[in-house]
Amino acid sequence: MTARDEFSIDFIAEGSAMVAVFHKGRQVSPASRNPEKLRPILAEKRRIAARAGRAWRCCLSCGERFLSEGVHQRLCAKHRSAASAEMPDQESPSYRSMMGK
Ligand SMILES: [Zn+2]
Repeated sequence: MTARDEFSIDFIAEGSAMVAVFHKGRQVSPASRNPEKLRPILAEKRRIAARAGRAWRCCLSCGERFLSEGVHQRLCAKHRSAASAEMPDQESPSYRSMMGK
């Protein structure tokens, strides 16, 4: 369980046997005694949150519109791979033409 995505399974109250899915400290699922029952709910909440962040955005480098996975992603595939040169996107046509293939 990481704190990074802001979703967690936690006890609904101190000393309580009931657990629930929390998002930023707010309860977002029914309470249950079985944490295993909450795991699919947690996965679904994460999936929905990930989808909600997805949108068409303009690349900060070239201004081209691309499907961004979230607000953190502001570069198109081409400039993202250029920004992380140690991990080039080998599937992209620009990478192949760069490599003369
Ligand atoms: Zn770009």
